[in-house]
Amino acid sequence: MRSVIVIGGGISGLAAAWQLRGQADVTVLESHGKVGGKLRTGTIAGITVDEGAESLMALRPEAVELAAAVGLGDALCDPAKAPITIWTGGALRPLPAGHVMGVPTDPSALIGTGLLSPPGVARVAAEENLPAAPLTEDCSVSDYLSARFGQEAVDRLVEPLLGGVYAGRAERLSLRAAMPRIAALAEQGGPLLPALRRMRAAGAPRSAPVAVQGVVGGTGRFPLAVAEACGARILTGTTARSLQRLPGDRWRVQAMTGDGALTIEADAVILALPAFAAAELLRPHSPPAEAELSAIPHASTAVITMAFSRAQAHFLPEGNGFLVPPVDGHTLKAASFLSNKWSWLRSAAPDTFVLRASIGRIGEDELLSRPDRHLVRSAIGELHRAVGPMGEPLAARVTRWERGLPQYGVGHRDRVRRIREATAKLPGLALCGAAYEGVGVAACVATGRAAAKATLSP
Ligand SMILES: Cc1cc2nc3c(=O)[nH]c(=O)nc-3n(C[C@H](O)[C@H](O)[C@H](O)COP(=O)(O)OP(=O)(O)OC[C@H]3O[C@@H](n4cnc5c(N)ncnc54)[C@H](O)[C@@H]3O)c2cc1C
Repeated sequence: MRSVIVIGGGISGLAAAWQLRGQADVTVLESHGKVGGKLRTGTIAGITVDEGAESLMALRPEAVELAAAVGLGDALCDPAKAPITIWTGGALRPLPAGHVMGVPTDPSALIGTGLLSPPGVARVAAEENLPAAPLTEDCSVSDYLSARFGQEAVDRLVEPLLGGVYAGRAERLSLRAAMPRIAALAEQGGPLLPALRRMRAAGAPRSAPVAVQGVVGGTGRFPLAVAEACGARILTGTTARSLQRLPGDRWRVQAMTGDGALTIEADAVILALPAFAAAELLRPHSPPAEAELSAIPHASTAVITMAFSRAQAHFLPEGNGFLVPPVDGHTLKAASFLSNKWSWLRSAAPDTFVLRASIGRIGEDELLSRPDRHLVRSAIGELHRAVGPMGEPLAARVTRWERGLPQYGVGHRDRVRRIREATAKLPGLALCGAAYEGVGVAACVATGRAAAKATLSP
């Protein structure tokens, strides 16, 4: 049987290990004490909640299918139905249904929402009559969409969603990589509004961030279940330090464990790592791949989880949470009212209200350098302004995700193509993870499974 070493025990690496079950002898190396990477649960006021990703994209099948395959089918659950809400202009304002990553399909639905000024709504409606040559080259989300819909729509409708998904900014993110459905329409030419309406009428996927599912007990259970079901040998607390190519296209990995150095060899190796970590291991083997991987920026973020006593709170908000446009100058980029959103959590902790606030977009490193207590205080202050005076939490904890989200800059797809071309020259080596074809869990699962298949084919 072929042997494969998977370096990185996040969901991408575990999906690769799952794909290889029964076909290869697999060892997963994970530097942390536990597998899961950005999917993990933690405890606050005695309640287990997600500290990283809290939901799985259900519009594409890979994540929910894998969850079901590893025994979590009955645990998959829908969030409470609620519109995406934007905190702007001093109020929480629902985003009208029918948008695609904040890009509206029906300008008239924006009237009276307070999301855009009347001239801003008129500018969106005018898109229909603007000439639009087919998009031939990648550009930033902001360059394309502000020319089509006006800057106000980008600032107040699109930026909050980009902040929520990528911790990114419209002026830096690639239209093709970060908003592929919009880019595909732009490539056809012609105004977007009628094209978006046609796409929706044809039953195309709805707005991405709406159609998600969670896991009862926390999405952090998902990687643990994959790890258990995949049958791989999993070595936690084991950090890969270097890679060596051996004769016969075999690979040797030198790693550090709590007990000292470990050397392990295999027929193939899968790097299921953040781009910067993959770059380090590839430096001696592919300088071009190393350079391209190192050039992918990453945004750091922090999740501030708070638990409130229902009996003592002055006020508890409704809805599933809100997103915040950076143009309003707030510290928060999003808040998720976990106890409203997930019924399993309400049942597990009926006396407590748990929410999480998120901060940190690309370029906000100064904000993230502040101590935990400052982040908690400013999050409470802004939450009070956004939803009302809730009072003090029973407990609060800050989870920092340093360089947690790769940024798909303009030209990202070409960069990924160059990375894949460079690493194709290294037989028996494959890459997967959030840095390539999508940051969401479903996209990561897809890259993991594809990398696994690549290591099996000669
Ligand atoms: C706060 C936050 C919230 C998110 N929310 C969502 C969400 O709700 N829905 C969604 O779909 N996506 C969400 N995402 C994105 C998604 O969670 C991630 O993109 C995805 O989980 C990344 O998985 P991965 O396996 O590619 O990488 P990671 O999870 O980063 O896993 C890589 C693993 O490699 C290990 N490692 C690194 N270097 C080495 C080494 N040298 N040797 C051995 N091991 C090493 C790391 O410890 C880590 O466990 C969120 C991301 C963040 C940060």
